[in-house]
Parts: sequence; structure tokens; C-alpha cells
Amino acid sequence: MKELKLVRRKTLIWKLVQVFLIMSLAGAVLHFFGTLISYQLFFDKLEQTLSWSLAEEYRNELQPLVSVKFDREAVEQKVLEFEQQNPRIDIYLLDTDGDILYSSETYVFSPVPLDSIRKFLEMEGYPFLPVYGVNPDVFRRDTWVPISVAPITIERRAGYVYVSLRGIRYHRVLWALGDFSLFSASAAFLILLVASTTILGLLLSRFFTKRFQALTVTLGRFAGGDLSARADDASEDEIGIHARVFNDMADTIQGNIRALEEKDKQRRDLIANVSHDLRTPLGAMQSLLEALSENYGTMDQDEQKVFLERTLINCRDLNALADDLFELSKLSAKTEEPVLMSVDLRRVLLSVVKKSVGRAEPKDLALVLDVPRELPRILADEHMLNRVVSNLVENAIRYSDRGGEIRLSAEKCGEGEVRVSISDKGIGIPEDELPWVFDRFYRGSQALDKERSGSGLGLAITKRIIELHGQRIWVESKVGSGSTFTFTMEAKT
Ligand code: ADP
Repeated sequence: MKELKLVRRKTLIWKLVQVFLIMSLAGAVLHFFGTLISYQLFFDKLEQTLSWSLAEEYRNELQPLVSVKFDREAVEQKVLEFEQQNPRIDIYLLDTDGDILYSSETYVFSPVPLDSIRKFLEMEGYPFLPVYGVNPDVFRRDTWVPISVAPITIERRAGYVYVSLRGIRYHRVLWALGDFSLFSASAAFLILLVASTTILGLLLSRFFTKRFQALTVTLGRFAGGDLSARADDASEDEIGIHARVFNDMADTIQGNIRALEEKDKQRRDLIANVSHDLRTPLGAMQSLLEALSENYGTMDQDEQKVFLERTLINCRDLNALADDLFELSKLSAKTEEPVLMSVDLRRVLLSVVKKSVGRAEPKDLALVLDVPRELPRILADEHMLNRVVSNLVENAIRYSDRGGEIRLSAEKCGEGEVRVSISDKGIGIPEDELPWVFDRFYRGSQALDKERSGSGLGLAITKRIIELHGQRIWVESKVGSGSTFTFTMEAKT
């Protein structure tokens, strides 16, 4: 596995941080200009509202000085007085074309556009946004300023008093304030904001990248074959969830690998067991047949019969082992599945009892059938069920000493379940061996001691059949007192 290396510039987190920085920068710039514009609008409106009728007031005082004849000196005197009282403003007298008839300033620009004058005069009540007009000062004529306008009669003709609420002096002072303006103060704040977000972004990137890198290293270790590698991140965020998902996945993979290893071991054990179990009867048969062949003619007939009978027993064992193996492999591979039918359990148990009497009699064993008449029918594959009961009864006979009792009982247990038990008063099974008795080729220590023959496959086949029926089987046993094997079957409703 190639080593996983992260190029910082290409990491997702780094890209996110960049987006975060660009967005915060854009947000800060927008906020900056938004605040400037809204402040400007607010103060312009405030100023215009306060000075709405300023032009009207000036008009009232100027009207007598210009209505018939334009008394320039008196007007100049008055305008000077007004501008001294209110130094931020400039006052203009205009004709109806917007041409400037009088101004205290020297460098002015005519004509003044009439749209804003009309707009102001037509306004009823205060507007939502301030009414702007041009500043006729030549140096500032691109500057739009809040205005106040009133109609006036100049030498018997209509005209306007036009007041720029931010006149030349206002702009001069603003210019003089220069870099100490609101703009530069806000710009400084903007730079501060961007610098602090950049530092914060970098710190955040370091924090997240560190955890991501740790996770990536763990993933790399796992991919490289270290199956014990697990992520150590218990946080509740996305990275923590990724870490936990990875840990769960790693557990599953490790579990599956262990199961595969276990399966492989079982397969090897099975081959070893099968070869061993085949070799024993085959070896015995070979020795017996060799003895017969070597002593052919010298051996008396009775001796020959004994040798042949022993050979036959080994041959039968071999056959039984082959049959059991074949059956177990069919059941394990599920090539043989139970065909469920309504079965009379009592009849099946009785037929096994009858079949087994011949084997029980030599050991003086009593076979007792204990099944209530009203027992419901069950859903089972009759042939397989027969095999299960036969196996259990055969074991009960095999692992019982002379003069005992073998009891086959069945009872309805709860809704839809019937329990079948085969119990004996035989040698029993030691407690520590109980978990293994259903394993393939498992033969108990007691069974070996007493040299009771068996393939070690009977209970494995039995358990497999019960499992294929979707049911359970278990054993209760005590050494010297006997064993009880119980399995469940589905009652037919
Ligand atoms: P086997 O062919 O050896 O009987 P089984 O799979 O049928 O193989 O049984 C496995 C082991 O379980 C036996 O070797 C024996 O030790 C134990 N066993 C099974 N049935 C009984 C029983 N009724 N009483 C005592 N031990 C039993």
C-alpha cells in the first residue's frame, strides 16, 4: 500500500478555510460600504428634514430685496449674514432655467438641473430618502448634496432660492480632516477584521487538519495490514463520526477475517479427522485380510470366521462413516432442505422405539414412550425427524450401561411449540464437555474410555437438521446419572 501523504494546499479543510476567508472578506467589505452608505443616507435625511424650510425662510427675507429690482448689495449683505449663521450651507438665486443669478461663490457652474428642484417642490411631507441636487460649486459639481428650495420672484419673474445644505466650506473642512475621516477609521477596522479572521482561520485549519491527518494515518495503517489500527476520536462532530464508522468497519473486517481463519482451521481439522477415521478401519481391515491371506490353508474354519466377521464390522463402520459424512456435507451445503409437512410425532417416536428394541434388549434397557394423546401434530420433515430421534436413541443406548431406562417424551410448551426429550440413565457427560458435544468429530472422554464406537458426527447431523427446521436443541447431563437431549418443533395450528 502506497503511503498516504497529504498536500496541505489540496486538503478539503484548507479549501474550506480559503472559502471562509474569501467570504468573510467579501462580507466585511459589503458591511463596510453598506454601513457608510446607510450612515450617509441617514445623516443626509436628518439634515434635510431639519432644514426643509430653510430656503423658504431665506426667501421671505430676500423677497423684498429682489422682487422689483435686484438690490445686489443688500442681497450680498443678507446672504453673507445667513452663511455666517450657518457656515455649512451655500445659497444660490436661480431663474426658471436653472441659471445662477446670484451666488456668494465665484466659481460656479450653470445651469443647475431642474429635476431635483421640481422633485423637492412637488414633495408633500418628508420623503423616505433625501432629495439630492447638484452642488453648483465648480470644484464639487459632481457631488450630490441634500438641498432646500423655495420659489421667489426676481425682478417680476419667477425664480428659486436654492440652498446646498453641504456647501463649499463643509467640503473644505471634510477635506482638511483628511485621513482622520470616518472612512479611514472604518478601513482600519476592516484591516483589523480581515487580519483577525485570517489568524482564526489558520488556527481552525490547524486544529481540524490535525484530527483529519490522525484519522488518515490510522486508515493508512489499517490499509497497510495493521488490523488492530483504530481511530481515537470520541468527538460528536463529522470527524468523530467518521472515526467511529471506520472503527466499526474495521471491527467487522477483523471479525470476518477471524471467522474465515476459524473456518479454514475447521476445514483442515475436518480433513485431518476424516483421514484419521478412514485410516483406522482401513488399517484394521488390511491387517485382518493380510493375516487371512498369510495363513490361508493353515487356519481353521472358526478362526477364519472370526477374522472375516471383524473385517465385516470395520467395513460397516467405514460405510457408516462415509454415509454420515455425506449426509452432513449435504445438510451443511443446504443441498438437502427439510420438506415441512404435518407429522404425527407420536407415530415417529413409536417407530423409532420399535426399530431400536433389538439394540436395547442385549443391554436389558427399557424403552419408554411418554407422549400425551392430545399432543398436536407438528410441522417437520418426517424423514429428517426420524433421523434425529434415531440418532438420540442410538446414543442413549450406546452410552447406557446394562439395566437402565430410556424415555422418549413430548409435550406442548406454550403457543405453537412442542418439546421432545430423549433421556437416559447412562454414563452422562462431564460439564466441561457439554458445549462441544454437538461439534463435528467430537467424542467425549467417557465415550473413548469405554471404547464405545461412533463416528462423532451423529450429534452434529442432529443439530444441523434441527437448525434447518429453525428450531433449537440442548443437552442437560450429569456424570453417572444420565443425559437428557431436548429439541423443539413447531406445532401445527
Ligand atoms: P458418537 O458417534 O461419538 O456418539 P455423537 O456426535 O453422537 O458421536 O456424540 C458426541 C459425543 O457426545 C459422544 O462421543 C459422547 O461423548 C457424547 N454423548 C452423546 N450422547 C450421549 C449420551 N446419551 N450420553 C452420554 N454421552 C453422550
